Amino acid sequence: MILASPRGFCAGVVRAIDIVERALTRFGPPVYVKHAIVHNRFVVERLERLGAVFVEELDEVPPGATTIFSAHGVSPAAYAQAAGRNLDVLDATCPLVTKVHMEARRYDAEGCSIFLIGHRDHVEVQGTLGEAPGRTIVIENPEEAERVQVADPERVAYLTQTTLSLDDTAEIVAVLKRRFPALRQPRKEDICYATQNRQRAVQALAGECDVILVVGSELSSNSNRLVEVAGALGVPAYLIESREGLNPEWLETATRIGVTAGASAPEEVVQDLVDWIAQRYDAPIRELEVILEDTRFPLPPRLAD
Ligand code: SF4
Repeated sequence: MILASPRGFCAGVVRAIDIVERALTRFGPPVYVKHAIVHNRFVVERLERLGAVFVEELDEVPPGATTIFSAHGVSPAAYAQAAGRNLDVLDATCPLVTKVHMEARRYDAEGCSIFLIGHRDHVEVQGTLGEAPGRTIVIENPEEAERVQVADPERVAYLTQTTLSLDDTAEIVAVLKRRFPALRQPRKEDICYATQNRQRAVQALAGECDVILVVGSELSSNSNRLVEVAGALGVPAYLIESREGLNPEWLETATRIGVTAGASAPEEVVQDLVDWIAQRYDAPIRELEVILEDTRFPLPPRLAD
C-alpha cells in the first residue's frame, strides 16, 4: 500500500478548525458557524460535540452571537447581514479564497466582465460571485466557455474556484483566451497550492498503483478532483468518507493500493483505513512524497495569542 504525500489537511483547513476551537475556548459555547466549517462530517461532528452550532442562514443565529464564516468564504451581502444583526463575526475564510475575492473586486472596479471558472452550486463560487454579481458569469466547462457572450470583449478577466482540476481548468482557459484575446488573468494562479500538490501526488500515485482510495466527503470539491485526476490516468479511484465506505471488491485484484485524502479529511480517518487494509491484506506501507508542505496561515489577531 502506498500513501500519497501530501494528503489531507491543508493550511486553510487547519486554520479554520483552529478558529472554531479557540472561539469555543475563549467565548464559551455556543458559537455559530455559517455552513460546514470545512466539508467533512467528522470535523463538523467533533466541533458540534464541543459546542459549535452549524447553520446555513444567518437569521438562524441569535442577535449578537459569536459567528464564524467557513473556510469557503461568503459574499459581501453576508457580512452586511451579520452587521445588521450585530453578530460578533470571526472570519475563517481561507486567505487563498480571500485573494480571489480581492481580484473580483479589482476587476469589478476596472469595469471588466468576470468569467468565474468553477461549480456554480459550490458555496465558494457563490461567495466569490457575490463580490460582483452583475459582472460575473460562472463557467463550468469548455462548452460554456465557447458560448459565453459579453458586452465588451476588450474588458474581460477570469478567476477560478480554488479547488479545481488543473487540467480541466487549463482547457477552459484556453477556450476563453482564444475567444477573448484581451482576457486578463490573476497574477498568481487561483487554484491553491494544496489542491495542486494533492493532484500532483495522486498523479504520482497513479503511476505506481492499480487502484486508489481517496478519503474525503462527497461535498469536498478537491477530493472529487483527486478521483477524476486518477481516473484520467486510467487508474480506478474511489471516494470514501471513511473505512466504512470501502467495498473490498475494489481491492480484490489489486496488487498495489494507493491511498490519499482531500484537504478536509482528518488524518485519523485515513490511518483507520490504512490500518484496516494493512491488517486484512498483510500489506506493507510506504509513503510517496512528492512535495513537502510547510504553509501556515496566521489566525485572526483576536485569537492569535
Ligand atoms: Fe485554502 Fe486551498 Fe485549503 Fe481551500 S483547499 S482551504 S483554498 S488551502
